[in-house]
Amino acid sequence: MKITIAKTAGFCMGVRRAVELALDSANRSGGRIYTYGPLIHNPQVLSILSQKNISVLQEIPDAGQGTVIIRAHGVPPSDREALKNAGFHVIDATCPRVIKVQSIISRHARHGYSVIIAGDREHPEVAGLLGYAGKHGYVINSLAELETLPDFDRAIIVAQTTQNTAFFESVQKWAQQHYPHYRVFNTICDSTEKRQREVQDMSGQVDAVVVVGGYNSGNTRRLADIARQSGKTALHAEKADDLPISELSECRTIAVTAGASTPNWIIRQVMQHLEKRLSGKEGRIRRWGYTLVRNLMLSNLYLALGAACLSGAGAWLQGAAAKPAYLGIAGLYILSMHTLHHMFDRIVDSYNDPERARFYQDNRYALSGLAAGSGLGGLAVAWLMGPLFFILLLAMSLLGVVYNLEFKDGRPGLKRVPVFKRIPGSKTVLVTLAWAIVAALFPALDAYGQIAPAGVAAFIWIAALVFVRTAFFDIIDMQGSRIAGRETIPILLGEGRTMRLLQIVLAATIVFLPGCALAGVFPVSASLLSLCPAAMLVFLHVHERSGRFLGVLRGFIMESHFVFAGILTLLLAWGGV
Ligand code: SF4
Repeated sequence: MKITIAKTAGFCMGVRRAVELALDSANRSGGRIYTYGPLIHNPQVLSILSQKNISVLQEIPDAGQGTVIIRAHGVPPSDREALKNAGFHVIDATCPRVIKVQSIISRHARHGYSVIIAGDREHPEVAGLLGYAGKHGYVINSLAELETLPDFDRAIIVAQTTQNTAFFESVQKWAQQHYPHYRVFNTICDSTEKRQREVQDMSGQVDAVVVVGGYNSGNTRRLADIARQSGKTALHAEKADDLPISELSECRTIAVTAGASTPNWIIRQVMQHLEKRLSGKEGRIRRWGYTLVRNLMLSNLYLALGAACLSGAGAWLQGAAAKPAYLGIAGLYILSMHTLHHMFDRIVDSYNDPERARFYQDNRYALSGLAAGSGLGGLAVAWLMGPLFFILLLAMSLLGVVYNLEFKDGRPGLKRVPVFKRIPGSKTVLVTLAWAIVAALFPALDAYGQIAPAGVAAFIWIAALVFVRTAFFDIIDMQGSRIAGRETIPILLGEGRTMRLLQIVLAATIVFLPGCALAGVFPVSASLLSLCPAAMLVFLHVHERSGRFLGVLRGFIMESHFVFAGILTLLLAWGGV
Protein backbone atom coordinates (compact mmCIF):
# COMPACT_ATOMS: atom_id res chain seq x y z
CA MET A 1 0.00 0.00 0.00
CA LYS A 2 1.39 3.38 -1.00
CA ILE A 3 0.22 6.67 0.48
CA THR A 4 1.10 9.93 -1.26
CA ILE A 5 0.48 13.37 0.13
CA ALA A 6 -0.39 16.34 -2.08
CA LYS A 7 2.25 19.09 -2.18
CA THR A 8 -0.48 21.69 -1.75
CA ALA A 9 -2.15 19.99 1.25
CA GLY A 10 -2.77 22.22 4.25
CA PHE A 11 -2.70 25.90 5.10
CA CYS A 12 -2.39 28.35 2.24
CA MET A 13 0.05 31.23 2.73
CA GLY A 14 -2.62 33.68 3.96
CA VAL A 15 -4.24 31.32 6.45
CA ARG A 16 -0.88 30.14 7.79
CA ARG A 17 0.22 33.72 8.31
CA ALA A 18 -3.00 34.62 10.14
CA VAL A 19 -2.83 31.56 12.44
CA GLU A 20 0.85 32.20 13.15
CA LEU A 21 0.20 35.86 13.99
CA ALA A 22 -2.61 34.84 16.35
CA LEU A 23 -0.54 32.17 18.11
CA ASP A 24 2.55 34.38 18.33
CA SER A 25 0.46 37.18 19.85
CA ALA A 26 -0.98 34.78 22.43
CA ASN A 27 2.51 33.47 23.26
CA ARG A 28 4.02 36.92 23.66
CA SER A 29 1.22 38.99 25.16
CA GLY A 30 -0.39 38.66 28.53
CA GLY A 31 -3.57 40.61 27.65
CA ARG A 32 -6.86 39.66 26.02
CA ILE A 33 -6.67 38.64 22.39
CA TYR A 34 -9.55 38.50 19.93
CA THR A 35 -9.98 37.65 16.29
CA TYR A 36 -12.49 39.80 14.45
CA GLY A 37 -14.76 36.95 13.33
CA PRO A 38 -13.65 33.28 13.38
CA LEU A 39 -10.07 33.11 12.12
CA ILE A 40 -10.50 29.93 10.10
CA HIS A 41 -13.08 27.29 9.16
CA ASN A 42 -11.61 24.47 11.17
CA PRO A 43 -13.08 23.45 14.55
CA GLN A 44 -9.83 21.89 15.84
CA VAL A 45 -7.84 25.09 15.20
CA LEU A 46 -10.60 27.21 16.74
CA SER A 47 -10.55 25.00 19.81
CA ILE A 48 -6.75 25.47 20.15
CA LEU A 49 -7.17 29.23 19.77
CA SER A 50 -9.76 29.22 22.50
CA GLN A 51 -7.42 27.16 24.76
CA LYS A 52 -4.85 29.89 24.15
CA ASN A 53 -7.47 32.37 25.39
CA ILE A 54 -8.08 33.87 21.97
CA SER A 55 -11.76 34.73 21.68
CA VAL A 56 -13.91 35.70 18.73
CA LEU A 57 -15.16 39.29 18.55
CA GLN A 58 -18.38 39.31 16.51
CA GLU A 59 -19.35 43.00 16.90
CA ILE A 60 -17.15 46.03 17.50
CA PRO A 61 -18.00 47.50 20.91
CA ASP A 62 -17.83 51.24 21.68
CA ALA A 63 -14.93 50.61 24.03
CA GLY A 64 -12.61 47.66 24.51
CA GLN A 65 -9.17 46.55 25.60
CA GLY A 66 -6.62 44.09 24.32
CA THR A 67 -5.50 43.02 20.89
CA VAL A 68 -7.74 42.31 17.90
CA ILE A 69 -6.44 40.29 14.97
CA ILE A 70 -7.94 41.04 11.58
CA ARG A 71 -8.27 37.72 9.75
CA ALA A 72 -6.90 36.84 6.30
CA HIS A 73 -10.09 38.01 4.51
CA GLY A 74 -9.46 41.62 5.57
CA VAL A 75 -12.04 44.22 6.68
CA PRO A 76 -13.39 47.53 5.36
CA PRO A 77 -11.24 50.53 6.44
CA SER A 78 -14.17 51.76 8.56
CA ASP A 79 -14.04 48.59 10.71
CA ARG A 80 -10.32 48.98 11.21
CA GLU A 81 -10.85 52.57 12.35
CA ALA A 82 -13.72 51.56 14.63
CA LEU A 83 -11.54 48.91 16.28
CA LYS A 84 -8.77 51.43 16.89
CA ASN A 85 -11.20 54.06 18.15
CA ALA A 86 -12.67 51.54 20.58
CA GLY A 87 -9.21 51.25 22.14
CA PHE A 88 -7.98 47.94 20.71
CA HIS A 89 -4.46 47.27 19.54
CA VAL A 90 -5.01 45.99 15.99
CA ILE A 91 -2.85 43.33 14.32
CA ASP A 92 -3.57 43.09 10.63
CA ALA A 93 -3.43 39.48 9.39
CA THR A 94 -5.06 40.33 6.06
CA CYS A 95 -3.55 38.06 3.41
CA PRO A 96 -1.03 39.99 1.24
CA ARG A 97 -2.94 38.83 -1.84
CA VAL A 98 -6.15 40.37 -0.49
CA ILE A 99 -4.22 43.55 0.41
CA LYS A 100 -3.15 43.73 -3.23
CA VAL A 101 -6.81 43.72 -4.37
CA GLN A 102 -7.67 46.32 -1.71
CA SER A 103 -4.93 48.61 -3.01
CA ILE A 104 -6.04 48.24 -6.64
CA ILE A 105 -9.56 49.20 -5.59
CA SER A 106 -8.62 52.14 -3.37
CA ARG A 107 -6.18 53.54 -5.96
CA HIS A 108 -8.82 53.52 -8.69
CA ALA A 109 -11.64 54.64 -6.42
CA ARG A 110 -9.55 57.70 -5.52
CA HIS A 111 -9.36 58.55 -9.23
CA GLY A 112 -13.12 58.31 -9.71
CA TYR A 113 -13.39 54.77 -11.10
CA SER A 114 -16.43 52.66 -10.30
CA VAL A 115 -15.50 49.26 -8.89
CA ILE A 116 -17.13 45.99 -9.91
CA ILE A 117 -16.26 43.02 -7.71
CA ALA A 118 -17.01 39.55 -9.08
CA GLY A 119 -17.72 37.68 -5.87
CA ASP A 120 -20.12 36.57 -3.18
CA ARG A 121 -21.54 39.66 -1.43
CA GLU A 122 -22.02 37.69 1.81
CA HIS A 123 -18.35 36.75 1.95
CA PRO A 124 -16.29 38.76 4.49
CA GLU A 125 -13.50 39.34 1.95
CA VAL A 126 -15.97 40.97 -0.45
CA ALA A 127 -17.47 43.07 2.36
CA GLY A 128 -13.94 44.28 3.10
CA LEU A 129 -13.15 45.03 -0.56
CA LEU A 130 -16.39 46.93 -0.94
CA GLY A 131 -15.29 49.21 1.88
CA TYR A 132 -12.32 50.35 -0.26
CA ALA A 133 -14.55 51.15 -3.25
CA GLY A 134 -16.33 54.09 -1.56
CA LYS A 135 -19.76 54.98 -2.93
CA HIS A 136 -19.24 53.39 -6.31
CA GLY A 137 -18.73 49.74 -5.47
CA TYR A 138 -20.84 46.94 -6.98
CA VAL A 139 -20.82 43.19 -6.38
CA ILE A 140 -21.91 40.75 -9.07
CA ASN A 141 -22.15 37.01 -8.85
CA SER A 142 -23.44 36.19 -12.37
CA LEU A 143 -23.38 37.58 -15.90
CA ALA A 144 -27.07 38.43 -15.50
CA GLU A 145 -26.22 40.66 -12.52
CA LEU A 146 -23.39 42.24 -14.49
CA GLU A 147 -25.75 43.20 -17.28
CA THR A 148 -28.05 45.07 -14.89
CA LEU A 149 -25.30 47.53 -13.92
CA PRO A 150 -25.35 51.05 -15.37
CA ASP A 151 -22.80 52.17 -17.99
CA PHE A 152 -19.72 53.71 -16.41
CA ASP A 153 -17.29 56.16 -17.97
CA ARG A 154 -14.52 54.63 -15.95
CA ALA A 155 -14.67 51.30 -14.14
CA ILE A 156 -12.48 48.45 -12.98
CA ILE A 157 -13.44 44.82 -12.52
CA VAL A 158 -11.71 42.69 -9.89
CA ALA A 159 -12.36 39.19 -8.56
CA GLN A 160 -12.81 37.84 -5.06
CA THR A 161 -9.52 35.93 -4.51
CA THR A 162 -11.31 32.56 -4.34
CA GLN A 163 -13.51 33.25 -7.38
CA ASN A 164 -14.12 30.47 -9.91
CA THR A 165 -11.67 30.96 -12.80
CA ALA A 166 -14.13 29.95 -15.55
CA PHE A 167 -16.70 32.47 -14.32
CA PHE A 168 -14.19 35.30 -14.17
CA GLU A 169 -12.99 34.48 -17.70
CA SER A 170 -16.59 34.89 -18.90
CA VAL A 171 -16.75 38.25 -17.08
CA GLN A 172 -13.53 39.34 -18.80
CA LYS A 173 -14.90 38.31 -22.21
CA TRP A 174 -18.16 40.16 -21.56
CA ALA A 175 -16.26 43.33 -20.61
CA GLN A 176 -14.08 43.13 -23.74
CA GLN A 177 -17.19 42.82 -25.93
CA HIS A 178 -19.38 45.46 -24.27
CA TYR A 179 -17.10 47.86 -22.40
CA PRO A 180 -13.55 47.57 -23.75
CA HIS A 181 -12.56 50.72 -21.81
CA TYR A 182 -13.17 48.97 -18.45
CA ARG A 183 -9.96 47.88 -16.77
CA VAL A 184 -10.05 44.22 -15.72
CA PHE A 185 -7.73 42.82 -13.03
CA ASN A 186 -7.60 39.07 -12.57
CA THR A 187 -7.10 38.97 -8.78
CA ILE A 188 -7.91 35.30 -8.29
CA CYS A 189 -5.43 33.61 -5.95
CA ASP A 190 -3.77 30.66 -7.66
CA SER A 191 -3.45 28.76 -4.36
CA THR A 192 -6.98 27.37 -4.68
CA GLU A 193 -6.55 26.59 -8.36
CA LYS A 194 -3.25 24.76 -7.83
CA ARG A 195 -4.77 22.71 -5.03
CA GLN A 196 -7.74 21.72 -7.19
CA ARG A 197 -5.54 20.90 -10.18
CA GLU A 198 -3.32 18.68 -8.06
CA VAL A 199 -6.21 16.70 -6.59
CA GLN A 200 -7.56 16.21 -10.11
CA ASP A 201 -4.17 14.92 -11.33
CA MET A 202 -3.65 12.69 -8.31
CA SER A 203 -7.13 11.19 -8.58
CA GLY A 204 -6.20 9.78 -11.96
CA GLN A 205 -3.19 7.94 -10.54
CA VAL A 206 -4.48 6.35 -7.33
CA ASP A 207 -7.24 3.99 -6.13
CA ALA A 208 -8.63 6.40 -3.54
CA VAL A 209 -8.36 10.00 -2.39
CA VAL A 210 -8.68 11.14 1.22
CA VAL A 211 -9.52 14.82 1.68
CA VAL A 212 -8.82 16.17 5.17
CA GLY A 213 -10.46 19.31 6.52
CA GLY A 214 -13.43 20.94 8.22
CA TYR A 215 -16.88 19.79 7.07
CA ASN A 216 -17.94 23.44 6.92
CA SER A 217 -14.91 24.53 4.89
CA GLY A 218 -16.01 25.40 1.36
CA ASN A 219 -12.64 24.85 -0.29
CA THR A 220 -12.22 21.44 1.40
CA ARG A 221 -15.67 20.29 0.26
CA ARG A 222 -14.81 21.42 -3.26
CA LEU A 223 -11.65 19.25 -3.22
CA ALA A 224 -13.74 16.25 -2.15
CA ASP A 225 -16.20 16.95 -5.00
CA ILE A 226 -13.39 17.08 -7.55
CA ALA A 227 -11.98 13.78 -6.25
CA ARG A 228 -15.44 12.17 -6.41
CA GLN A 229 -15.94 13.34 -9.99
CA SER A 230 -12.89 11.26 -10.97
CA GLY A 231 -14.92 8.13 -10.22
CA LYS A 232 -12.43 6.89 -7.60
CA THR A 233 -13.19 6.27 -3.93
CA ALA A 234 -13.13 9.74 -2.33
CA LEU A 235 -13.45 10.24 1.43
CA HIS A 236 -13.74 13.55 3.27
CA ALA A 237 -12.70 13.40 6.93
CA GLU A 238 -12.36 16.22 9.44
CA LYS A 239 -10.04 14.12 11.64
CA ALA A 240 -8.47 10.67 11.75
CA ASP A 241 -11.27 9.00 13.75
CA ASP A 242 -13.83 10.02 11.13
CA LEU A 243 -12.15 7.95 8.38
CA PRO A 244 -14.12 4.87 7.33
CA ILE A 245 -10.95 2.75 6.95
CA SER A 246 -12.90 -0.30 5.72
CA GLU A 247 -13.66 1.56 2.48
CA LEU A 248 -9.92 1.76 1.79
CA SER A 249 -9.06 -1.85 2.62
CA GLU A 250 -8.80 -2.97 -1.02
CA CYS A 251 -6.86 0.11 -2.19
CA ARG A 252 -3.19 -0.24 -3.15
CA THR A 253 -2.55 3.49 -3.68
CA ILE A 254 -4.05 6.37 -1.70
CA ALA A 255 -3.59 10.10 -2.17
CA VAL A 256 -4.12 12.46 0.76
CA THR A 257 -4.87 16.15 0.33
CA ALA A 258 -6.26 18.81 2.65
CA GLY A 259 -8.12 22.11 2.53
CA ALA A 260 -6.50 25.52 3.02
CA SER A 261 -7.68 25.68 6.64
CA THR A 262 -6.40 22.24 7.71
CA PRO A 263 -3.39 22.31 10.08
CA ASN A 264 -0.42 19.98 9.62
CA TRP A 265 -1.02 18.08 12.81
CA ILE A 266 -4.48 16.93 11.66
CA ILE A 267 -3.00 15.83 8.32
CA ARG A 268 -0.25 14.00 10.21
CA GLN A 269 -2.81 12.29 12.47
CA VAL A 270 -4.67 11.06 9.39
CA MET A 271 -1.44 9.87 7.74
CA GLN A 272 -0.37 7.98 10.85
CA HIS A 273 -3.85 6.48 11.21
CA LEU A 274 -3.76 5.27 7.60
CA GLU A 275 -0.20 3.90 7.93
CA LYS A 276 -1.05 2.07 11.12
CA ARG A 277 -4.45 0.68 10.17
CA LEU A 278 -3.53 -0.30 6.63
CA SER A 279 -0.05 -1.69 7.33
CA GLY A 280 -1.84 -4.89 8.43
CA LYS A 281 -2.75 -5.41 4.76
CA GLU A 282 0.93 -5.64 3.83
CA GLY A 283 2.99 -8.82 3.84
CA ARG A 284 4.10 -10.05 7.25
CA ILE A 285 7.79 -9.17 6.75
CA ARG A 286 7.01 -5.60 5.69
CA ARG A 287 4.68 -5.21 8.65
CA TRP A 288 7.30 -6.46 11.09
CA GLY A 289 9.87 -4.23 9.47
CA TYR A 290 7.60 -1.21 9.83
CA THR A 291 6.83 -2.00 13.49
CA LEU A 292 10.51 -2.56 14.30
CA VAL A 293 11.64 0.70 12.70
CA ARG A 294 8.77 2.62 14.27
CA ASN A 295 9.57 1.31 17.77
CA LEU A 296 13.30 1.95 17.36
CA MET A 297 12.51 5.52 16.35
CA LEU A 298 9.89 6.19 19.04
CA SER A 299 12.07 4.78 21.82
CA ASN A 300 15.11 6.80 20.60
CA LEU A 301 17.21 3.61 20.44
CA TYR A 302 18.07 4.27 16.81
CA LEU A 303 18.98 7.85 17.68
CA ALA A 304 21.28 6.53 20.44
CA LEU A 305 22.96 4.27 17.88
CA GLY A 306 23.50 7.34 15.68
CA ALA A 307 25.06 9.23 18.62
CA ALA A 308 27.43 6.32 19.28
CA CYS A 309 28.36 6.29 15.58
CA LEU A 310 29.10 10.03 15.61
CA SER A 311 31.24 9.56 18.68
CA GLY A 312 33.21 6.85 16.84
CA ALA A 313 33.69 9.25 13.93
CA GLY A 314 34.72 12.03 16.35
CA ALA A 315 37.37 9.82 17.95
CA TRP A 316 38.69 8.50 14.61
CA LEU A 317 38.99 12.02 13.17
CA GLN A 318 41.30 12.89 16.07
CA GLY A 319 43.39 9.77 15.58
CA ALA A 320 42.09 8.17 18.77
CA ALA A 321 40.72 4.64 19.08
CA ALA A 322 36.91 4.54 19.25
CA LYS A 323 36.77 3.07 22.76
CA PRO A 324 33.47 1.41 23.83
CA ALA A 325 33.35 3.96 26.69
CA TYR A 326 33.06 6.89 24.23
CA LEU A 327 30.33 5.17 22.25
CA GLY A 328 28.54 4.12 25.43
CA ILE A 329 28.54 7.60 26.98
CA ALA A 330 27.31 9.25 23.78
CA GLY A 331 24.58 6.64 23.16
CA LEU A 332 23.35 6.46 26.77
CA TYR A 333 23.40 10.22 27.38
CA ILE A 334 21.53 11.01 24.16
CA LEU A 335 19.04 8.19 24.82
CA SER A 336 18.35 9.50 28.31
CA MET A 337 18.02 13.19 27.38
CA HIS A 338 15.85 12.67 24.30
CA THR A 339 13.54 10.23 26.11
CA LEU A 340 13.23 12.68 28.98
CA HIS A 341 12.51 15.50 26.54
CA HIS A 342 9.61 13.63 24.91
CA MET A 343 8.21 12.66 28.31
CA PHE A 344 8.08 16.32 29.33
CA ASP A 345 6.92 17.50 25.94
CA ARG A 346 3.79 15.43 25.48
CA ILE A 347 1.58 18.48 24.78
CA VAL A 348 3.77 19.55 21.88
CA ASP A 349 4.01 15.97 20.66
CA SER A 350 0.23 15.63 20.72
CA TYR A 351 0.20 18.20 17.87
CA ASN A 352 3.46 17.38 16.15
CA ASP A 353 3.38 13.62 16.37
CA PRO A 354 0.24 12.20 18.00
CA GLU A 355 1.53 8.64 17.72
CA ARG A 356 4.69 9.54 19.64
CA ALA A 357 2.61 11.30 22.32
CA ARG A 358 0.44 8.16 22.67
CA PHE A 359 3.54 5.92 22.79
CA TYR A 360 4.98 8.02 25.62
CA GLN A 361 1.66 8.03 27.48
CA ASP A 362 1.09 4.27 27.12
CA ASN A 363 4.68 3.32 28.02
CA ARG A 364 5.43 6.08 30.50
CA TYR A 365 6.71 3.78 33.27
CA ALA A 366 8.97 1.74 31.00
CA LEU A 367 10.26 4.90 29.32
CA SER A 368 10.87 6.60 32.69
CA GLY A 369 12.96 3.56 33.60
CA LEU A 370 14.78 3.75 30.26
CA ALA A 371 15.55 7.47 30.71
CA ALA A 372 16.75 7.01 34.29
CA GLY A 373 18.64 3.78 33.56
CA SER A 374 20.45 5.13 30.49
CA GLY A 375 21.22 8.41 32.28
CA LEU A 376 22.73 6.55 35.26
CA GLY A 377 24.47 4.11 32.92
CA GLY A 378 26.14 7.00 31.08
CA LEU A 379 27.23 8.52 34.40
CA ALA A 380 28.64 5.18 35.56
CA VAL A 381 30.76 4.89 32.40
CA ALA A 382 31.88 8.51 32.84
CA TRP A 383 32.83 7.73 36.45
CA LEU A 384 35.04 4.89 35.24
CA MET A 385 36.72 7.29 32.79
CA GLY A 386 37.56 9.75 35.56
CA PRO A 387 36.15 12.55 37.76
CA LEU A 388 36.38 15.20 35.02
CA PHE A 389 34.11 13.19 32.70
CA PHE A 390 31.69 12.36 35.50
CA ILE A 391 31.35 16.00 36.57
CA LEU A 392 30.98 17.20 32.99
CA LEU A 393 28.30 14.62 32.16
CA LEU A 394 26.49 15.20 35.46
CA ALA A 395 26.38 18.95 34.79
CA MET A 396 25.09 18.38 31.27
CA SER A 397 22.46 15.90 32.50
CA LEU A 398 21.24 18.29 35.22
CA LEU A 399 21.07 21.10 32.68
CA GLY A 400 18.98 18.83 30.44
CA VAL A 401 16.55 18.08 33.30
CA VAL A 402 16.27 21.74 34.38
CA TYR A 403 15.80 22.81 30.77
CA ASN A 404 12.70 20.61 30.53
CA LEU A 405 11.15 21.64 33.85
CA GLU A 406 7.93 23.66 33.82
CA PHE A 407 7.60 26.76 35.95
CA LYS A 408 4.16 28.33 36.17
CA ASP A 409 4.16 31.90 35.02
CA GLY A 410 0.58 32.68 35.98
CA ARG A 411 -0.53 33.24 32.42
CA PRO A 412 -3.73 31.54 31.25
CA GLY A 413 -4.37 28.86 28.64
CA LEU A 414 -1.62 26.65 27.18
CA LYS A 415 0.96 28.88 28.75
CA ARG A 416 2.84 26.41 30.92
CA VAL A 417 5.92 26.74 28.79
CA PRO A 418 9.15 25.67 30.46
CA VAL A 419 10.89 29.01 30.91
CA PHE A 420 14.19 27.95 29.36
CA LYS A 421 12.44 26.66 26.25
CA ARG A 422 11.16 30.18 25.67
CA ILE A 423 14.68 31.40 24.97
CA PRO A 424 14.72 31.74 21.16
CA GLY A 425 16.51 28.89 19.40
CA SER A 426 17.72 27.53 22.77
CA LYS A 427 16.73 23.91 22.15
CA THR A 428 18.58 23.60 18.86
CA VAL A 429 21.72 25.26 20.21
CA LEU A 430 21.82 23.26 23.46
CA VAL A 431 21.14 19.93 21.75
CA THR A 432 23.87 20.68 19.21
CA LEU A 433 26.43 21.58 21.88
CA ALA A 434 25.57 18.57 24.05
CA TRP A 435 25.99 16.10 21.17
CA ALA A 436 29.25 17.69 20.01
CA ILE A 437 30.70 17.69 23.55
CA VAL A 438 30.07 14.00 24.17
CA ALA A 439 30.99 12.90 20.64
CA ALA A 440 34.10 15.05 20.04
CA LEU A 441 35.43 16.56 23.27
CA PHE A 442 35.14 13.50 25.53
CA PRO A 443 37.37 11.40 23.22
CA ALA A 444 39.80 14.36 22.89
CA LEU A 445 40.12 14.84 26.65
CA ASP A 446 40.38 11.13 27.37
CA ALA A 447 42.90 10.30 24.64
CA TYR A 448 45.11 13.38 24.85
CA GLY A 449 44.14 15.25 28.03
CA GLN A 450 43.64 18.41 25.94
CA ILE A 451 41.64 19.76 23.03
CA ALA A 452 43.94 19.99 20.02
CA PRO A 453 43.02 21.58 16.63
CA ALA A 454 41.74 18.16 15.48
CA GLY A 455 39.41 18.11 18.51
CA VAL A 456 38.05 21.57 17.69
CA ALA A 457 37.57 20.60 14.03
CA ALA A 458 35.79 17.33 14.98
CA PHE A 459 33.59 19.34 17.36
CA ILE A 460 32.62 21.79 14.58
CA TRP A 461 31.93 18.99 12.07
CA ILE A 462 29.71 17.04 14.48
CA ALA A 463 27.96 20.20 15.72
CA ALA A 464 27.08 21.15 12.12
CA LEU A 465 25.52 17.74 11.41
CA VAL A 466 23.54 17.71 14.67
CA PHE A 467 22.41 21.30 14.12
CA VAL A 468 20.99 20.37 10.71
CA ARG A 469 19.25 17.28 12.09
CA THR A 470 17.70 19.18 15.02
CA ALA A 471 16.61 22.21 13.01
CA PHE A 472 15.14 19.92 10.32
CA PHE A 473 12.86 18.28 12.89
CA ASP A 474 12.07 21.76 14.24
CA ILE A 475 10.77 22.64 10.76
CA ILE A 476 8.58 19.53 10.73
CA ASP A 477 7.29 20.39 14.21
CA MET A 478 6.70 24.10 13.59
CA GLN A 479 2.94 24.22 14.06
CA GLY A 480 3.00 22.30 17.36
CA SER A 481 5.92 24.38 18.62
CA ARG A 482 4.03 27.54 17.81
CA ILE A 483 0.94 26.34 19.67
CA ALA A 484 3.08 25.52 22.68
CA GLY A 485 4.92 28.85 22.50
CA ARG A 486 8.37 27.46 21.61
CA GLU A 487 10.70 29.88 19.83
CA THR A 488 12.55 27.43 17.62
CA ILE A 489 14.86 28.54 14.82
CA PRO A 490 12.28 27.91 12.04
CA ILE A 491 9.75 30.00 13.98
CA LEU A 492 12.26 32.84 14.22
CA LEU A 493 13.55 32.64 10.64
CA GLY A 494 10.62 31.06 8.80
CA GLU A 495 10.60 27.67 7.10
CA GLY A 496 12.16 28.73 3.78
CA ARG A 497 15.03 30.67 5.31
CA THR A 498 15.77 27.88 7.80
CA MET A 499 15.91 25.36 4.97
CA ARG A 500 18.33 27.62 3.06
CA LEU A 501 20.44 27.98 6.22
CA LEU A 502 20.61 24.20 6.65
CA GLN A 503 21.62 23.75 3.03
CA ILE A 504 24.38 26.35 3.41
CA VAL A 505 25.60 24.68 6.63
CA LEU A 506 25.68 21.30 4.87
CA ALA A 507 27.49 22.70 1.82
CA ALA A 508 30.12 24.21 4.15
CA THR A 509 30.34 20.92 6.08
CA ILE A 510 30.99 19.00 2.86
CA VAL A 511 34.09 21.10 2.10
CA PHE A 512 35.12 21.37 5.75
CA LEU A 513 36.87 17.98 6.04
CA PRO A 514 38.85 18.26 2.77
CA GLY A 515 39.79 21.79 3.91
CA CYS A 516 40.99 20.45 7.27
CA ALA A 517 42.89 17.68 5.45
CA LEU A 518 44.62 20.30 3.28
CA ALA A 519 45.55 22.22 6.42
CA GLY A 520 47.02 19.02 7.86
CA VAL A 521 44.50 18.79 10.71
CA PHE A 522 42.98 15.49 9.51
CA PRO A 523 44.28 12.75 7.22
CA VAL A 524 43.20 13.08 3.57
CA SER A 525 41.06 9.94 3.93
CA ALA A 526 38.83 11.88 6.39
CA SER A 527 37.34 13.58 3.33
CA LEU A 528 35.35 10.37 2.73
CA LEU A 529 33.18 11.35 5.71
CA SER A 530 31.95 14.30 3.62
CA LEU A 531 29.62 11.75 2.03
CA CYS A 532 27.53 12.04 5.20
CA PRO A 533 26.64 15.78 4.89
CA ALA A 534 26.37 15.26 1.11
CA ALA A 535 23.71 12.57 1.67
CA MET A 536 21.91 14.90 4.09
CA LEU A 537 21.94 17.67 1.51
CA VAL A 538 20.44 15.37 -1.14
CA PHE A 539 17.80 14.25 1.36
CA LEU A 540 16.83 17.85 2.21
CA HIS A 541 16.66 18.71 -1.48
CA VAL A 542 14.41 15.76 -2.35
CA HIS A 543 12.28 16.34 0.73
CA GLU A 544 11.79 20.01 -0.11
CA ARG A 545 11.09 19.42 -3.79
CA SER A 546 8.79 16.42 -3.63
CA GLY A 547 7.73 16.06 0.02
CA ARG A 548 8.13 12.35 -0.78
CA PHE A 549 9.36 11.23 2.62
CA LEU A 550 6.66 10.92 5.22
CA GLY A 551 6.25 9.94 8.85
CA VAL A 552 8.42 7.05 10.04
CA LEU A 553 10.41 6.89 6.78
CA ARG A 554 11.38 10.59 6.96
CA GLY A 555 12.64 10.30 10.55
CA PHE A 556 14.44 7.04 9.80
CA ILE A 557 16.31 8.45 6.81
CA MET A 558 17.38 11.56 8.71
CA GLU A 559 18.65 9.56 11.72
CA SER A 560 20.38 7.09 9.38
CA HIS A 561 22.87 9.74 8.29
CA PHE A 562 24.69 9.43 11.62
CA VAL A 563 24.72 5.65 11.31
CA PHE A 564 26.14 6.17 7.82
CA ALA A 565 28.92 8.29 9.35
CA GLY A 566 29.65 5.37 11.70
CA ILE A 567 29.78 2.88 8.80
CA LEU A 568 32.15 5.14 6.86
CA THR A 569 34.36 5.44 9.95
CA LEU A 570 34.42 1.66 10.35
CA LEU A 571 35.46 1.26 6.71
CA LEU A 572 38.22 3.84 7.14
CA ALA A 573 39.42 2.23 10.36
CA TRP A 574 39.38 -1.29 8.90
CA GLY A 575 41.09 -0.08 5.75
CA GLY A 576 43.80 1.41 7.97
CA VAL A 577 43.71 4.68 5.99
S1 SF4 B 1 -6.60 31.51 -0.61
FE1 SF4 B 1 -5.05 32.92 -1.42
S2 SF4 B 1 -5.88 34.95 -1.04
FE2 SF4 B 1 -7.04 33.57 0.24
S3 SF4 B 1 -5.95 33.58 2.20
FE3 SF4 B 1 -5.11 31.87 1.03
S4 SF4 B 1 -3.32 32.73 -0.03
FE4 SF4 B 1 -4.57 34.45 0.66
